Formats: sequence, structure tokens, C-alpha cells
Amino acid sequence: MILDNETTHQFAELALAALRKTGLAATPRNYELWYAHVEGKNPSLSAHIQKAMDSTGKVTQEKADQLYKKLVQHSDISNDVIDLMTRFHTEVTDLYDIVEQTGESAQGHSEKLSDMSDQLRDSTEKFPAVGALLEGVISVAKTMREENQYLEDRLAASIEEVNTLQRDVEAIQREAMQDALTGVANRATFDRSLEKHMSEAKENGEPLALVLGDIDHFKKFNDTWGHQTGDQVLRLVAEVMNANVKGMDMLARYGGEEFAVVLPGTTLENAHRLADKIRCAVESRRLRKRRTDEDLGVITMSMGVAQLHAPDTMETLIERADGCLYAAKSAGRNRVCDERELKTPDEESHQGVA
Ligand code: GH3
Ligand code: MG
Ligand code: MG
Repeated sequence: MILDNETTHQFAELALAALRKTGLAATPRNYELWYAHVEGKNPSLSAHIQKAMDSTGKVTQEKADQLYKKLVQHSDISNDVIDLMTRFHTEVTDLYDIVEQTGESAQGHSEKLSDMSDQLRDSTEKFPAVGALLEGVISVAKTMREENQYLEDRLAASIEEVNTLQRDVEAIQREAMQDALTGVANRATFDRSLEKHMSEAKENGEPLALVLGDIDHFKKFNDTWGHQTGDQVLRLVAEVMNANVKGMDMLARYGGEEFAVVLPGTTLENAHRLADKIRCAVESRRLRKRRTDEDLGVITMSMGVAQLHAPDTMETLIERADGCLYAAKSAGRNRVCDERELKTPDEESHQGVA
């Protein structure tokens, strides 16, 4: 739902007022939490916030952090906050421009008045009342200019603050979407992206494929070379995979040593080809330990590829890709298996009987 400007500003004000009452600092995270609360779209979050308050309505930062981790981190609220900040930033900048212009014109007026005062020196000496009046007007203009300067400075500081807040929120959003080890999209982002691409593909009648890849015998690799070296390999695999996907393709770390690639607009055949290209690229890297230059051999990946069918849900599509991955492992690993090679339950039971 897209909220109109006015409504978002009202929510922002409500959020800040409510946040102030809790005694918490107005950090981007706290603000994001309280914005979601006053917006009222997430009753569970609001209930948790109510529960986190003590008898005087105060909330500790520790509790607020817990709430954030639990309730907001993987939601889309940060997008709304960034939108809001962008709009807020525009408004403050506009206001700043107006104040600056007013300041300049106040300065202009006061200078003109001073000039007039000089020109009218003779008459002001003759008519002291005119002189006093003029002095009064000049002094008002001066005060106005000074007050304007103060307002200008305050607004400039506000703009700077909004910039910082915006950068913080963007960083938090990035963190929440990425896998910390490899920097590729995390599981939550994968889920959201797959859901979105699936509904678009169904709506437009376009193909969509899903690749699930799993590193072969990775436990043995870790046991032999240590977990930290294993982590480096995970980073390298993500890098190699990333270099082979482009455009709308979306690479994510699906789990421990499993990666997923969502391929919108891609047929099963092309997805199979791409998966095999990635598999070869991973296999072709000779691994060396950075510090000792020790040869760690090579690692390989098995992949399963499924394509979207009309009745598919996310679960059934993932299940089919996982079935293909399992088939690739069973067939000896370091290979790609797609759903055309999957046996139907019928075929399996026939084989069992034969
Ligand atoms: P398979 O070929 O059947 O996939 O064998 P495997 O050993 O890769 O699979 P298994 O599921 O038995 O073990 C997965 C291993 O992946 C176990 C764990 O040590 C490793 N692993 C998972 N996540 C991480 C991680 O974040 N870092 C490191 N270094 N290793 C991880
Ligand atoms: Mg695995
Ligand atoms: Mg594995």
C-alpha cells in the first residue's frame, strides 16, 4: 500500500512523539520500530512493544534491540522509512531555500534602508522623528536577518542529520538483506524475490527457472582444512557464481553450503546450461591457502534445476529443484540434473516392482 505524503508525515510525527515518551534515543532502528508500531499494520509488533514497556511506559534500549531483531529486520519497513526520509529531506531542503531567500532579501532591505538613512541624513537631523523611525525599521530588518541566519543554520544541521540517518537506514537495510559471510542475498531476500518473480512470471506467462547448488563433500573439506578456510571457499564460490549471473538473475545463499539462483525469463534448457557453466567455473578454480600457498585441490558442486509450472507454489518449485539436486548427488556429484531427469512416483514404483 502506498501512503500519501501527508499520512506518512503524520505517522512520522506520531512515531517520534511515541518514541520520545519511551525515553529511547531517536536512532534509525528505534524510529523504524516505532514507525511500524504507529502505522498499525503489524499488530504482533505493536503487542510486543506494549509488552516491552515498564509501568511508566519506558523501554530499555536492550529490549528495543531485541524487538528489532525479532520483528523488523526482515520486513520491508526500511523501504518505507527510506522513502519517508527522502521526502523529508526534500521538504527540509525546500524550506532551507525559502529561508535563505528570505534572509537574502532581509539583508537587501536592511542595506537599502541604511542607504536611505545616509541619503536622508539632512532631513533626519531636521526631523528627528523620521530618523528614529528609520533607525527602528533598520534594527527590525537586522534582527530579522539574524533570526533568519539562525534558522538557516538549524535547517542546514537538520539536512545533515537526515543525510546521516538515511545512510544509516540504508546500511541497516543492506545488512538485513545480505548474507554476512558472502555478501550475496540471504535466505529472506531469496524468499521475497522468488515469490515476486513467480507471481510476475505467472501473470505474464513467462518462463522462470530455479537452480539449487550444493558444494560436494564440504564437511570433509572443513574437517581437512578447517572451518575458516571453508569460509573462504564459500566466499569464493559466491564470487564465481556471481560472475556468471546477470541482469534479473538473483543469486542467494540458501543455507550453509547451498546456493540458489532465481532465473526469471529463463527456460529449463537455458537454466541447465547456465548451471553447468557455473559448475565448470567452480571446478576449474585451483584452491590455494592464502598464507601458506598450500594446494587445497578443487571443490565441486552438484546442482538441481526446476522450471515453474502453473500450479507451482514456492514450496513445490523448491522441492522439485531439491529433488533434482538430490538426484545429481546420487548420480555421483559434480553434475547438473534437471527435472526432465526426475523419475515420476509412477516410474519409481514400476522400477521397484521390476
Ligand atoms: P554432500 O556432497 O552430500 O553435500 O556432502 P557435504 O559434506 O557437503 O554435506 P553435509 O550436509 O554432510 O555437510 C555440509 C557441511 O557444510 C557441514 C558444515 O561443516 C559445512 N558448512 C555449512 N555452513 C558452513 C559455513 O558457514 N562455513 C563453513 N566453513 N562450513 C559450513
Ligand atoms: Mg548441503
Ligand atoms: Mg554439500
